[in-house]
Amino acid sequence: MPAVASSVVGNKNRKRKRCAERKEQTAAQQKKHCVKPGCNLSCKKKCITKISEEQRQQINSEFWSMSHYERRCFMLHATKRKMASRKTTTDSRRKHSYFYFLNGTDGMKAVCKTFFLTTLGFQKNNDTVLQNCLKSTALDSIKPGEDRRGKAPSSTKIDRSVLTEHIENKGYYGVQGHSRSSRSAPIESPYATSY
Ligand SMILES: [Zn+2]
Repeated sequence: MPAVASSVVGNKNRKRKRCAERKEQTAAQQKKHCVKPGCNLSCKKKCITKISEEQRQQINSEFWSMSHYERRCFMLHATKRKMASRKTTTDSRRKHSYFYFLNGTDGMKAVCKTFFLTTLGFQKNNDTVLQNCLKSTALDSIKPGEDRRGKAPSSTKIDRSVLTEHIENKGYYGVQGHSRSSRSAPIESPYATSY
């Protein structure tokens, strides 16, 4: 049947398109998340003496060749958390102590957070992705928790309907001064003020 045949072709084309789109997305992600400058020699963990620049590049490219879920698994297992031993009773903000690890050529090495984030291609002062992964996972769990990415409404999102209404009302009142007929009743504006 021609209808079925064309839908099969359509499906194949859509699949091919999706595949190409995914490849493009991956390439764009890799480009955006290239290795960033890490810590320096003054770092207590001496990260740059443990893991070479070449090794950082390798970790980064392996990391970005993984799926979103695999990356979350990696971040979870390359970071160790434990309940912080509270030294002072006044500072109860820091609940956990964090430790970060990356693979050197001769095995796992403890590195600082800056080195960890920048090797994976994140900005050193932006740990949102890492925190999202860790906070969604219970301390006694080995499986990353549910990803909240894109699920919470953005706080900066503008309510377009209000904006459009406002513009339309402004437009209406703008032309009223000319020769607009007074037969039509003015639109009630939520912004109108009574004098
Ligand atoms: Zn360091």
